[in-house]
Amino acid sequence: MSAAKKAETNNQQHFSADVSRLLDIVANALYTNHDVFLRELVSNSADACDRLRYQSIEKPELIADNPNFRIHIFKNTDTRTLTIFDNGIGMTAKELADHLGTIAKSGTAKIMEAAKKSDDPLSLIGQFGVGFYASYMVASHVKVISRKAGAKAVNVWSSDGATGFTVDKATADETALLDGDRGTAIILDIKDEGVEFLIDEKIKQTIETYSDHINVKIFLNTPQDTDNGQGNPINSASAIWTRSKSDITDEEYLSFYRHITHGFDEPLLTSHWRAEGKIEFSALLYVPMMRPWDLYDPSRKDAVKLYVNRVFISDGLDGLMYPWMRFVRGVIDSSDLPLNISRESLQFNPIISKIRTSVTKRILSDLDKLSHDDWPGFITFWGQFGAAIKEGLYDAAEHREALFKICRFYSTHDNGDKFTSLDEYVDRMGENQKEIYYITGENLDAIKNSPQIEGFKARGIEVLFFTDTIDDFWLQNVTSFKDKDFKSVTKGDIDLGDAPKNENDKDDEADKSDHKDLLERMKSILEDEVDSVRISKRLTDSPVCLVAPEGAVDMNMERVLKIHQNYQGQSKPVLEINAKHSLIKKLETLEPASENFSDATKLLLDQARIIQGEAIKDPSGYARRMANFMERGL
Ligand code: ADP
Ligand code: MG
Repeated sequence: MSAAKKAETNNQQHFSADVSRLLDIVANALYTNHDVFLRELVSNSADACDRLRYQSIEKPELIADNPNFRIHIFKNTDTRTLTIFDNGIGMTAKELADHLGTIAKSGTAKIMEAAKKSDDPLSLIGQFGVGFYASYMVASHVKVISRKAGAKAVNVWSSDGATGFTVDKATADETALLDGDRGTAIILDIKDEGVEFLIDEKIKQTIETYSDHINVKIFLNTPQDTDNGQGNPINSASAIWTRSKSDITDEEYLSFYRHITHGFDEPLLTSHWRAEGKIEFSALLYVPMMRPWDLYDPSRKDAVKLYVNRVFISDGLDGLMYPWMRFVRGVIDSSDLPLNISRESLQFNPIISKIRTSVTKRILSDLDKLSHDDWPGFITFWGQFGAAIKEGLYDAAEHREALFKICRFYSTHDNGDKFTSLDEYVDRMGENQKEIYYITGENLDAIKNSPQIEGFKARGIEVLFFTDTIDDFWLQNVTSFKDKDFKSVTKGDIDLGDAPKNENDKDDEADKSDHKDLLERMKSILEDEVDSVRISKRLTDSPVCLVAPEGAVDMNMERVLKIHQNYQGQSKPVLEINAKHSLIKKLETLEPASENFSDATKLLLDQARIIQGEAIKDPSGYARRMANFMERGL
């Protein structure tokens, strides 16, 4: 895939197809906001410093030339160039070609991948910074001079962002632009669209907006002018998460959020605290407003950065966050972890799991608070991330109680129009009600009208609507809430006998018959299709419905399992009939051996299947029988 296989001196190389496409998009003024390029370049420089800072713990000689990490931004109005220099880790010739000639390695690759699948790729890309290539919003030509820490060679990547790029050995002049033994200088030939970035005030203001609180000092002049990083930086370089909450403004929190997410939106939740006691750490975490496109992609790593005493260690360390908390963004900085430990063994360090527990508790309690303080905000959260929270129900039993506090469901209580919590459900339960009733299905409107809940509605017994696929999975593991069992209304025999009905039902007294003959005859006709036929206690308006036998897998769950887990089981359903329904009463008067009886019975089963959203097994037989009855009726 990569056209830039090998760096070759004086050799024009081609961008990979993805890069060409991206450059096209960037050049065609996708962004109205040109500031983005500076945010992206500074973010790369800060990453480069972070990476070298970590490596220098084991190899201090890598930063022997100058231990002060820094970024310099300076202009030359004569040549109309803007230079961004950092003394971070730098790149070898091969890395220049690989990292800047393809986007296989960058976060941008993910966005491009998503854009391919999206109906509206431009707007999708427009929501994110596109990394290094954003330079071409303001530059007609870009040169990247770089020396990898610990290496001798200085190389230059150079491109107009259209035809391809070259990688060459640096000239003496170019080498002189680097300060010290390492780092990267990016020189932009500013085009007309970008002239404002040749004004110091504009640069300052942009840095203030996007990069004030990163962990590296930024200077507005050349390294030589700044006396090796001793001067006054234009940003506060304060590692915002280490500062006290009362000193930080909303704007500062927002700008840091945008720095780490490369986005333009606002967070739904900002949680900043310092844990003290058995373990100590600072955390500045955000819950975004919008679901990232790859939230349900199993290969997605969580995006919380781990620092140890302000030294960046890793983003996406396994075990730092629960997989289902992968929507949280931000920074955790611990002073308890050893610095000289490999990232690999770090994930097994017991301190990591302690931090995870503590962070999870805090975020869940903040989300609970959000549900009280900002209902619209909370509903947005639930719509975007509710399914991830439900993954936690089976993944993290130790946080289940807190997770249940956040879960919201629709129910018969407000006819499926308003969310309810489980606590509210339990509060409304009648004295005799022992179980929490639910029905699952993909389509809220369809399950609202399920025949299986008629009897519950008539008696004022609340039924929860579970409409996420994930509901069928956590219900396999989680059987109760506050000692009340979850009970599917589409499974097993349900006795609503004691519960008083809303409407007075005259037939209740009259109907003492057990309808034995009717049931037996129907069962003999439907032998191959159903487990049994019985009188329903849950129907009031519909003549029939299907339910799963006690002990079997709930019917909707069976369908979901078949799709997702290669589930083979096939249990026959129970056909329940409403003995008080006029249709059933008529059926009972028919000659049991007649074709009419048998056709009507088969039609009733098919009807139950249709309501259930299932396919009819013998469509032509169904059509023939239906036509017969219609003809007689018309
Ligand atoms: P991302 O930062 O999401 O990986 P970018 O397009 O911003 O994507 O950068 C691509 C890659 O180029 C980076 O991952 C990094 O390896 C390399 N790179 C860019 N700028 C620098 C820099 N100043 N110093 C060292 N490496 C850099
Ligand atoms: Mg980047």
